[in-house]
This record gives sequence, C-alpha cells and structure tokens, in this order.
Amino acid sequence: MTLDFRLLTEQLWEAMEMFYVSTRGNHPAVSSAEAIKMGISPDGGLFVPDAPVRVSPELMQRMKEMPYRERAAEILRLYLTDFTAAELEDCAARAYNTNNYDVEEIAPVKELEPGTYVLELWHGPTCAFKDMALQILPRFLPRAAAKTGEKGEIVILVATSGDTGKAALEGFKDVPGTRIMVFFPDQGVSQVQRLQMVTQEGDNVGVMAVRGNFDDAQSGVKAIFTDADINRRVGEKGFRFSSANSINWGRLAPQIVYYFSAYLDLLREGKLAEGEPVNFVVPTGNFGNILAGFYARQAGLPVNRLICAANENNVLTDFVRTGIYDRNRRFVRTISPSMDILISSNLERLLYELSGGDTTTVRDWMNELREKGMYQVGGGLLAQLQALFWSDFSSDRETKDAIRETFDRTGYVADTHTAVGLDVYKKYVLQTGDRTKTVIVSTASPFKFNDSVVEALQGKEAVKGKDEFELLHELARISGLEIPVGLKDLDRRPVRHDGVVDREEMPRAVFDFLNI
Ligand SMILES: *Cc1c(COP(=O)(O)O)cnc(C)c1O
Repeated sequence: MTLDFRLLTEQLWEAMEMFYVSTRGNHPAVSSAEAIKMGISPDGGLFVPDAPVRVSPELMQRMKEMPYRERAAEILRLYLTDFTAAELEDCAARAYNTNNYDVEEIAPVKELEPGTYVLELWHGPTCAFKDMALQILPRFLPRAAAKTGEKGEIVILVATSGDTGKAALEGFKDVPGTRIMVFFPDQGVSQVQRLQMVTQEGDNVGVMAVRGNFDDAQSGVKAIFTDADINRRVGEKGFRFSSANSINWGRLAPQIVYYFSAYLDLLREGKLAEGEPVNFVVPTGNFGNILAGFYARQAGLPVNRLICAANENNVLTDFVRTGIYDRNRRFVRTISPSMDILISSNLERLLYELSGGDTTTVRDWMNELREKGMYQVGGGLLAQLQALFWSDFSSDRETKDAIRETFDRTGYVADTHTAVGLDVYKKYVLQTGDRTKTVIVSTASPFKFNDSVVEALQGKEAVKGKDEFELLHELARISGLEIPVGLKDLDRRPVRHDGVVDREEMPRAVFDFLNI
C-alpha cells in the first residue's frame, strides 16, 4: 500500500506543469518552452522555476544504472514539463553520444585521491564544459518555437570572448529551423579559439570578427536584439532572433544533470553511501555552473558545500564572505580567461531563491548594481548563503603551482580553470578541516589552454617561441593523453569565415548573412 501511494504521488508530481517566473516580478509566468524561446524576461529579470523540483529516492535508484543521456532525459522532464518524455529522450540522445563526445560516459568521474574526485565536463566537441548545455539547447529551441506557435526561423546571435561561440556553433550547426551568427573580438581570443571559429563548418552558420574588444562585440549584439526596426525587418522576412547565452534557462537545466550523474556514478561504484553528502568545487565566472549545483541540491541531491572557486577577478569571493557585491574594481586578465568576469548574471537567480522569491528586493539590488556597481545583502540571506557556499580565489602563480603539484602528486593534468578549483579546494580543507568527500568540477581540457599548462609543468623556457599547435604535441608527450579531435589539425583546416567588421557594421553583417 505504502509503495503504491508513493508511486502515485510521484506520478502526480511528474504530471504537474512547471511554470517560470521572472526574478524581477514584472512579467506573467510562462511555460518552459516560452522561457527557452525568450531567453531573458522582458522586465530584465531571469526566468526561474515557480516551485522546487523533487527527485524521488525511487528515481535516484532507477537512474543509478542508466547511461548519461537517459539520466538527462529523466531530470529534464521534471523542469521542462511541456516537452514530452519522447522528445526529451530524443534531444538527449542526439546531444550526448559518442559522435559528439570522445568518451562513452560523456561526463566521467575520475578519482584523484581517495575521497577526492574530478568530474570532467570537457569531452564534447569544443573541449570546454559549455558543450554540456550547448549540445542540447539547439535541440530544444526549434521545438520550443513550434510549441509556442512561432512561425519564424530562429536566428541565434552570439557575442563571445572565446568558449561560448565555438560551443554554440557546434551545437547549432545544421540544426533544421535555426541559423547562428557569432561575433568575436578581432584581438581578444587565443589562436586556438580563433581557428576553432573561423574554420567552422555547417550550412547555417556565420562567424565574424569585430574590430575592438569583447565589450564592443557584446554591446553590438545587444543593440541588434533591442532595435525595433531591425527586429521588424528580420521579422517580415520570416526570422526571429534568440539567444544562446547562459542566462537562458535552457542552458541551465542541462547543467543540473551532471551533478546528479556524478553522484550516481560514485554511488554505483560504492564510493559513496546512499544519502552521503558531498562537496562540489566549481571554477566560477558567470555563476551558471555552480547555480546548477544549487538547483541540484534543491531537488534533493545530498550536497554539503558548494565551493565557489574564483580567479583574481574575485567579486564572488568577497560577496560570499561579506554579503557585499562590488564590481568597482580593476578587471584582471588571467590565465583562466573564461572566468574573467565582474558581473555574474546568474547570481540574480540565487538571490531570488535565497530571499524566498522576494522580487521587490531582487529588483532593488539589481538597480543598485546598475547605478552604483554594488549592493549588499544582509542578515538571514547572508547566513543562508554562507551555510551553503564557501569561496576563495587563486592568483595565476597559485594556479600554475596547483597544476604542477597535482601532476607531481597524482599524474593528473588539469587545465587552468580546473586548477583554480584544485587550489581553492586545498585552501578550503586547510581553513575548515572539512573532510567530506569532494568532487572538483573540471571545466576545460588542458589542451585548450596548453601554453599556460605546459609552462606550469615545464617552466617558461619550454614554451618560448612555440605556437599553440607545437604546444599541443608537447602536452600530449608530457601527459600521455591524446590530442582531442576538435583541436588536432586545426591549423590545417580551411578558413571558411574571414570577415572583419566595425561595431557599427554588425547589423549589415546580419542582413548579409540572412540574405535580406
Ligand atoms: C564558462 C567557463 C567557466 C565559468 O562558468 P560559469 O558558468 O560562467 O560560472 C569556467 N571554466 C571554463 C573553461 C569555462 O568555459
């Protein structure tokens, strides 16, 4: 009887529709398809689920033996309730397979030392963790458009500082009903990152360099999104702009999956007992990855601490320690560039959740951030924040030391972002004495940031006068790992996109791309 009752409540629960509300409270609730299609709420807020999800012990049990793609379909069903189970299974199967990933497990968990594990999220086509979401979001978007009565063809515009652009291109390449155009700063990306983008294949893709820095590219894209005339013109030709950046709930939801998957793997291998808490260490920039860990915990995953690892752009470390978010500081270029960020957009969702959905206060904080570059949270919220999160940061020196020390001690080669996580975890254990089993989230392949990694392992002399492609081979030799397919021979592939424009010419470039 008890069991029947529990199954019944689970089924009822799963049949419930989830709606999405804005963190700023000035937009009516929307369906998950609507939230994915819109990306950001028109009131400037971010979409969040209107009620927490629960992953039942029965579902945990069932997922233990499942491959990654099936786990993904199960978890996503709880959040994206207007997609059918079959649709989500199809999306997950097309995203998480061995054509796109170089390992069967998709997101493997490796033991670094007893009780310390690394979750590798970079086995996808572009060698960074952005693939985990950007391989599946492109499968959601055309369906979301169809479900919401959208007639236009979806046109994704992306401004990228490096990793997101390539991951979005790979994800959207040749996806029916979509086109994608990526703008990158002409002088602002690494040699590998540039070649990854300008050699991009696919019939629905456009790539354009913008004279200037990332901010020029970013503000240019924002200006296009918000220009009524441009939107009307593309609308009349049957197109609709959408966004693939990390404030889209369709990018966040797939990231919740790997927190569960890592836990389930450890459970299956007997490294964890049922219900045993774990810590996750997350190299953080825009707060998207670690926020997915928060939602996993909210859904019932036994998470003890979420350890937010920052580089010298340490706004988040100060915030977790003091409750003061202050972006008025010097922007530092570090060897972990994907974390060089001073406004962590996704933090807004955490503020919403921890304040119990107090949209008025969230709105005030975000206004203060816009006007003064800072805001302060107090009392109860700060206590909750500190009970769950811990944070520290690493200098470039410490990051390189962590790469070398880890390699000497364990033979594991970490990239610069992951190494920030390793260093901050060391500080965490020293300062707290907490020996809870811990998973370090690894966000990029060491081959992607090979110059810093080789320098950390072999010293400055070893990299002098060598380009990133020679260093790929050097790193393969040192580590005994194979160069990922996506990076190999990059310098020999034909350049398919060689355009460069000024910021003002970006709309023209979009029209040309769409042939309108
Ligand atoms: C994007 C990125 C990060 C930061 O992730 P957020 O979700 O923005 O916090 C960390 N490491 C790498 C390699 C990345 O590409």
